[in-house]
Amino acid sequence: MSQYVTVARQGEIAVVTIDNPPVNALSLHMREPLYAALTGLRDDAGVAGIVIACAGRTFISGADITEFGTPKALQEPNLPMLCALLETMPKPVVAAIHGTALGGGLELALSCHFRVADAKALLGLPEVKLGLIPGSGGTVRMPRVVGPQKALSMIVSGNPIGAKDALASGLVDQVATGDLVADAVAFARSKAGAKPVAVRDRADKIQNVDLAAFDAAIGDATKKSRGLEAPLAAAQAVRNALTMSFDEALKAERATFVKLVQGDQSRAQRHLFFAEREAAKVPGIGKDVQPRPVKKAGVIGAGTMGGGIAMALTNGGIAVTILEMNEDALKRGLGVIEKNYTTSVSRGSLSEEKKAERMGRLKGTTDYADLADCDLIIEAVFEEMAVKKDVFGKLDRIAKPGAILASNTSYLDVNEIAASTSRPQDVVGMHFFSPANVMKLLEIVRGDRTAPDVLATALAVGRQAGKVAVVVGVCHGFVGNRMLGARNDESEALLLEGASPQQVDKAFTDFGWPMGPFAMWDLAGLDIGWRNRKAQGKTAVIGDALCEMGRYGQKTGKGVYIYEAGARTPKVDPEVDALIEAKARERGINRRDISDEEITERTLYPMINEGAKILEEKIAARASDVDVVWTNGYGFPIGKGGPMFWADLEGLKKIVERLEYWHGRTGKDVFKPAPLLKRLAESGGRLAA
Ligand code: NAD
Repeated sequence: MSQYVTVARQGEIAVVTIDNPPVNALSLHMREPLYAALTGLRDDAGVAGIVIACAGRTFISGADITEFGTPKALQEPNLPMLCALLETMPKPVVAAIHGTALGGGLELALSCHFRVADAKALLGLPEVKLGLIPGSGGTVRMPRVVGPQKALSMIVSGNPIGAKDALASGLVDQVATGDLVADAVAFARSKAGAKPVAVRDRADKIQNVDLAAFDAAIGDATKKSRGLEAPLAAAQAVRNALTMSFDEALKAERATFVKLVQGDQSRAQRHLFFAEREAAKVPGIGKDVQPRPVKKAGVIGAGTMGGGIAMALTNGGIAVTILEMNEDALKRGLGVIEKNYTTSVSRGSLSEEKKAERMGRLKGTTDYADLADCDLIIEAVFEEMAVKKDVFGKLDRIAKPGAILASNTSYLDVNEIAASTSRPQDVVGMHFFSPANVMKLLEIVRGDRTAPDVLATALAVGRQAGKVAVVVGVCHGFVGNRMLGARNDESEALLLEGASPQQVDKAFTDFGWPMGPFAMWDLAGLDIGWRNRKAQGKTAVIGDALCEMGRYGQKTGKGVYIYEAGARTPKVDPEVDALIEAKARERGINRRDISDEEITERTLYPMINEGAKILEEKIAARASDVDVVWTNGYGFPIGKGGPMFWADLEGLKKIVERLEYWHGRTGKDVFKPAPLLKRLAESGGRLAA
């Protein structure tokens, strides 16, 4: 007996209870007594069946992440040994699953003969999200239990399924109706006496599989993997389960797992996994800082962002009152929200009841007085300081004491906005990304005078709305848009000097981005940048010229590219090529061939450089926060871990050398290496450590 694993008897059935808080991870100190307990029960003639259950809030939720990369992870008895032991048990073993059975936890359960689950349980193999595949038989046993197609979709997506789905697909044998352990004991008793069939010997679901159809399903399932190795490797591992013997497939799975775990992509994805957890820890905001309660929120402006923010909040269970300038604008904004929900219902991703519930929490108004009892008010009006100040002045007059006043500004100075109120301690930036009901990122902008509990509240609201929040400091564009700005100028310069938009965009998609900078301009609307530049007295040769021609991007059917009616696929437009050539000629630029390498050096390296400046200025607390911003808000490929992690892989010395070269050649500030970058390059240090 141990503190982590205890055995109790209910007649001839033994109940093994694992108690390794907080999530019953597969730590070595739990594996050891579990292995010993199971060996003892195997040889105990008085035991006719075994139930494996967990204390606390969940079944085994996976590997012990603190053992990642340490010898402890593999130290015997390791998970493959536990699985093999379970599988050779001469008496039925039943896993009693509540909470979440994920990764190694589910692999262990799959090695039992039977599974009984609580109605609210979630079961999944999420390894692919860390750039891995299951390494203890998950890919070989799962198809035997649920069939190849279901196994493929579960393992390639990494998404867990609920108990109902698990019962329908055969992953669990019974959903508990009463007490889970009592039901599992009764189930084990009903199977006692007969020799149980091990999952390794179950072949009915993997016989006579149509491999051509399965390969087509692999094509579908991995379509969006964009250069990631793990989804393809996962699909191949499930395929091996169909074409190889159990032991061969198991060996192949292990070899792939070991290869992936040592590779850069999985390192990058594990870096991001920890980075997102780390981002929630904000310097100066300890556990003692209590968030203010937020039951009711106000949103000002029902445009692109206001509508999305209102949806994100009501999705998270917060009541929302949305305010517009007049009835027409309000009606239009609420109409867009309603339409978005209707689309989700027609796609099957939202039920009618959920839609009604979410819309039921939403109210519209044109009267500021209706916001007087809001705990939080988020402003999403036009990006102009005068308008923002006017709105915050009004909020200052009507909002109740202690209400949090937030701005969704993309660039503006949150301290200046705060100073336009009598309560700067209650003002904070909450910068959502478009579409705000979908994009995960939330930049929380900490003003000089923002109170700690206001930050804690913004973090809590972000979590409730399903966002990944990163706290940043005040500067033009904060972390994300400021780094984006560093690449935008050069994207244009590359066009003038000889690259085509499609060449630049292809270099980006080859790198793993979902789209390149020009396709992104068209998607976001070129007029946004144009307005922003005008406000700052800046110009952009190509961007401005396109806007002057009325080419605002997808919304006008033409931008950098041309779009066929209703389509979103960019097509090359000779008119734009001619425009670029003419603008180059006007400037006396001799266009030349540009290599993909040059595109990378001139667009991504300035971003890295800007990121280093952001760290120096303490706008971001740590490099991993920058990576969280870019992977969750801008589509930076997760297999490369974010710009700071990738910079370390690329080599800081090389980056500094090339920045210096381009600085010498162009004289542009974006290339002037940040002192931090130079220092690290010289000392052999790393940005993301
Ligand atoms: P938008 O033009 O789509 O919406 C602005 C809405 O605010 C309009 O419906 C307008 O009627 C309303 N409005 C303007 N002044 C108002 C006032 N005084 N009172 C009440 N309502 C008022 O603009 P958007 O794209 O939603 O941007 C809003 C804010 O969000 C800006 O600060 C912008 O920088 C920021 N933002 C935009 C994006 C984006 O991708 N569009 C992303 C992040 C942040």
